[in-house]
Amino acid sequence: MSLLVVGSVALDTVTTPHGHRENVLGGSCSFFSVGASILTRVRMVGAIGDDFPEEHLSLFRKRNIDLAGLERVRGGKTFRWAGRYQPRMDTRETLWTDLNVLGRFKPELPTEFRETEFLFLANGDPVTQTYVLDQMKNPRFVLLDTMNLWIDTAREKLLALLSRVDGLILNDEEARSLAHDENLISAMRTIRRLGPKILIVKKGEHGAVLLHDDRYFAVPAYPLVEVKDPTGAGDSFASGVMGRVAVTGDLSLAGLKSAMVFGTVVASFCVEDFSLGGLVGIAEADVERRVTDFTDFIRL
Ligand code: AMP
Repeated sequence: MSLLVVGSVALDTVTTPHGHRENVLGGSCSFFSVGASILTRVRMVGAIGDDFPEEHLSLFRKRNIDLAGLERVRGGKTFRWAGRYQPRMDTRETLWTDLNVLGRFKPELPTEFRETEFLFLANGDPVTQTYVLDQMKNPRFVLLDTMNLWIDTAREKLLALLSRVDGLILNDEEARSLAHDENLISAMRTIRRLGPKILIVKKGEHGAVLLHDDRYFAVPAYPLVEVKDPTGAGDSFASGVMGRVAVTGDLSLAGLKSAMVFGTVVASFCVEDFSLGGLVGIAEADVERRVTDFTDFIRL
């Protein structure tokens, strides 16, 4: 089944306790597309400038990602983001953001993309996310990502969008802020009442929690000895979840539980290296192997 992502394609400058990288490939769309491409074919919608290196496009092509919706804006510059992680890497600070082409991003979906069954609206302005959703013809499952910036500055637009999507993915702090509730479990219930049947709350190194109708399910993070760069962990987690449901078509609680395991495993590869380095060489068999290990790790 088909899978579409709309989000940012970026050149990131990242500092973690393990090193510093400048102008490396990043952005929610890049992490999601490459992560999900391990499991299924992905259609990408995003914008880049003249400065976007050809080698990154070759990487996307090598992963069989459909780039018909990736717009190169003539005379424009690619979105840039710089961040620095604290020693434990559980918090990060955004040092600067240059929106560049993302500031005027008004995605027009290629005709064939409008019929895609599974859609991931990566973190972005809810106005843009709504504009994309309006172009879709009856998608089977739409997962929305958001962040504090939009919860604080575009709450009404976000709430309107929430009533139209099937699932929402966000981190624990964002869930508390969206629901105005410090108790995560009741915050999750409150958010469910805003529309999405499925809610996934990411808790960084502590894993993720799913609320599917009225049932909770939790997974820890994959146990890793070496984490070099957590950038893109959230997007690659979402890519494993959506990649898995796009392959199985199973949106039941059991299907979503399995998808949470795939999300955890894809994210585990991502954080082992900077930028997309941890994901590029990964094949489906590598994911399957870690899924087997991880299933054993969490089995009672
Ligand atoms: P994650 O670590 O999963 O939250 O994703 C990190 C990626 O998000 C980085 O590669 C950034 O380029 C991208 N990013 C950071 N800020 C924004 C923003 N305001 N809009 C879109 N993408 C962003």
